[in-house]
Amino acid sequence: TSAFSHVPLAPPDPLFGLIAAHKADTHPDKVDLGVGAYRDDDAKPWVLPVVKKADALLRDDPDLNHEYLPIAGLQTFTSAAARLILGADSPALAEKRVCSVQTISGTGAVHTGARFLAKFYPRPQNQAVYISDPTWANHQQILDNVDLPVAKYPYYHAASRGLDFAGLTSALRSAPEGSVVLLHACAHNPTGVDPSRDQWKEIAVIMRERKLFPFFDCAYQGFASGDLDNDAWAVRYFVEQGFELCIAQSFSKNLGLYSERAGVFHFVSPPVADAADATTRIGSQLAIVQRSEISNPPAYGARIADKVLNDKVLFDEWKEQLRTMAGRIIDMRETLVQKLTELGTPGDWSHVTKQIGMFSFTGLTEKQVLRLREEAHIYMTKNGRISMAGLNSHNADYVAAAIDKVVR
Ligand code: PLP
Repeated sequence: TSAFSHVPLAPPDPLFGLIAAHKADTHPDKVDLGVGAYRDDDAKPWVLPVVKKADALLRDDPDLNHEYLPIAGLQTFTSAAARLILGADSPALAEKRVCSVQTISGTGAVHTGARFLAKFYPRPQNQAVYISDPTWANHQQILDNVDLPVAKYPYYHAASRGLDFAGLTSALRSAPEGSVVLLHACAHNPTGVDPSRDQWKEIAVIMRERKLFPFFDCAYQGFASGDLDNDAWAVRYFVEQGFELCIAQSFSKNLGLYSERAGVFHFVSPPVADAADATTRIGSQLAIVQRSEISNPPAYGARIADKVLNDKVLFDEWKEQLRTMAGRIIDMRETLVQKLTELGTPGDWSHVTKQIGMFSFTGLTEKQVLRLREEAHIYMTKNGRISMAGLNSHNADYVAAAIDKVVR
């Protein structure tokens, strides 16, 4: 007999199951509103032209080889990534209070951070990591993997399809001192609902009072609003307020490097006298975490991002292409609302344009979602989340008409 006969069959990952079901569907009008990846107006993946250029430069480089990267990754990439999220003029950078480790994209950055916190963050009362309800489903799993206890803070207000700010603030106020709070830096997944700047300021006040540790997950910088600085505002505000914090940064969406796994974990020490020394010590421990888990991070995606971030001409082209992606998504929000309005679809759909980023929490019920799948071959997650990137000028009428039918 096997020692593993007790291992239960895990449910399939709901998102990847959805992708497979859409792929297997042979209906000509099928629509994929599940996958969290950018699609162009023809529903095709988009390799950013600036990525193609960076790729060509790499191919032309006769000195390029397949040697290991350093344990902490490609330094020119990770430091440019730190400037990108914190701002080039960040005092934290000038004061050498930041250490950065290249990771297996955003997922790996969340994991590395979680592993580091599990090892070194003092939690005398077994303080939990607070995650938003709902959140990206992987947060819970990643924290479970490193045995950090998880608690939830209310986030989504179903009636307004907006932020449950009262619920969020009251949960943070009653969180035990020293708890960790995982925050989405921008473009909250799955809801598309972000706090306003004033609300972020209140969150910061409470977190300082309650001595809560901020852990920002930033998977959509520049992809949300089309403006890199705007999407980094909350993180920079917390740094400016003197918090000690960490950041998981992904280049999957904003550079379209999904499978290349380009990401960075940053630890920012607070502005205290021995901050630079603390940063060195923390960096040395992060290197051990990294060494024991992956030894060395993968090079290709990091090299692409490195070229784009460190070349003024390519960087400007990237910003333009970010505006293209964000702009198309914002257009699709408006188009969908306009079409539903024209159809006289019951309900208020204004939340679709108020929400931001890749996703919209439509408010469609599970029953309606399943009907859309069965009757119209439109695929979305059961919680009614749609990936705005799956909509385009060719299918918007079809999707609006199908939604109209199932909500009546
Ligand atoms: N965090 C959030 C909130 C996300 O939505 C995603 C991707 O969907 C990630 C992290 C990590 O993505 P990746 O590992 O591809 O960088």
